[in-house]
Amino acid sequence: MKYIGAHVSASGGVEFAPVNAHEIGANAFALFTKNQRQWVSKPLTDESILLFKENCEKYNLKADYILPHDSYLINLGHPEEEGLQKSRTAFLDEMQRCEQLGLKLLNFHPGSHLNKETPEECLDKIAESINIALNKTKGVTAVIENTAGQGTNMGNEFLQLKYIIERVEDKDRVGVCLDTCHTFTAGYDFLDKENYEKVFKEFDETVGFSYLRAIHLNDSKKALGTRVDRHDSIGKGFIGLEFFQRLMKDPRFDNIPVILETPDDTLWKEEISLLRSFE
Ligand SMILES: [Zn+2]
Ligand SMILES: [Zn+2]
Repeated sequence: MKYIGAHVSASGGVEFAPVNAHEIGANAFALFTKNQRQWVSKPLTDESILLFKENCEKYNLKADYILPHDSYLINLGHPEEEGLQKSRTAFLDEMQRCEQLGLKLLNFHPGSHLNKETPEECLDKIAESINIALNKTKGVTAVIENTAGQGTNMGNEFLQLKYIIERVEDKDRVGVCLDTCHTFTAGYDFLDKENYEKVFKEFDETVGFSYLRAIHLNDSKKALGTRVDRHDSIGKGFIGLEFFQRLMKDPRFDNIPVILETPDDTLWKEEISLLRSFE
């Protein structure tokens, strides 16, 4: 079974996210548990935590299919000590918020080398950052998202995801989220049936489907291999409907959160029903 939702707003408090997910007919969702553009946010209140849990229960939204995303400011592979420490502190706070909310996954972009360290040094730091956070928390899996490889962002190649996972000590609490827009603009051509099979075979042989914890389902405003991250609504970009039809029928993507991060939130309800019609 597919669990489909979108990255919904949590404005006013995390407790509103499950309500917003329910309104678009979702049985999965993503959210920010704090303001994603600020380093420090107020702690979650007991009331907010309680209401969040109550609303999730009310609308039958299970922790297995809820995928919080961390702040965009965090760079777990930061080349400079100050930036790295700040990122590690903020990431731990994100993990602890998930623990408080009873959530099991935390989705994040691996990090950027900023041309001040080698890509390998950056990947080593990312793995170390994950180890530090996992050692201080319980029950939350670090879910590394693949990227388009824009600028100095790491994580655009499956091999880099594998490299990080190999260096994480607790293999039970590390996983991957594949973003379809990022995969495509990173240069993986999965458009026709043959190439679709080839790309996911490569993913399976490099990283392994056993590490796949989530999917971000986005079309792309940019062409294959451009390494630019610009999401488009389903069926409106360079990826097109055929790919999404194929993915919705593919059992390898069952029982994980399938999350839309498409730009027009007024279309989410329609996009979800469209995707369900492909199952
Ligand atoms: Zn994404
Ligand atoms: Zn993106």
